[in-house]
Amino acid sequence: MARCWRKTNLEVHHIDKKDGNGIENAKVLCQQCHEATRTYGLEGNSPHAFTQETKDKALRNAGYQCECTRIGNCH
Ligand SMILES: [Zn+2]
Ligand SMILES: [Zn+2]
Repeated sequence: MARCWRKTNLEVHHIDKKDGNGIENAKVLCQQCHEATRTYGLEGNSPHAFTQETKDKALRNAGYQCECTRIGNCH
């Protein structure tokens, strides 16, 4: 699996919109990969935003790099 190499414009994505804003539901994606997710932009269904603390932890866990491993139409 090729992981996205980007380390800029990182955002914290909700893996499952129904799963709240805990660290286990957080995934670090660069802006480009984030926009490629199917649920991006459907703000009507958006869950609670992550706290800054959760975002910081997710970024640290990800090594400050996009965690996306989907290749093809994504990155
Ligand atoms: Zn990416
Ligand atoms: Zn990607």
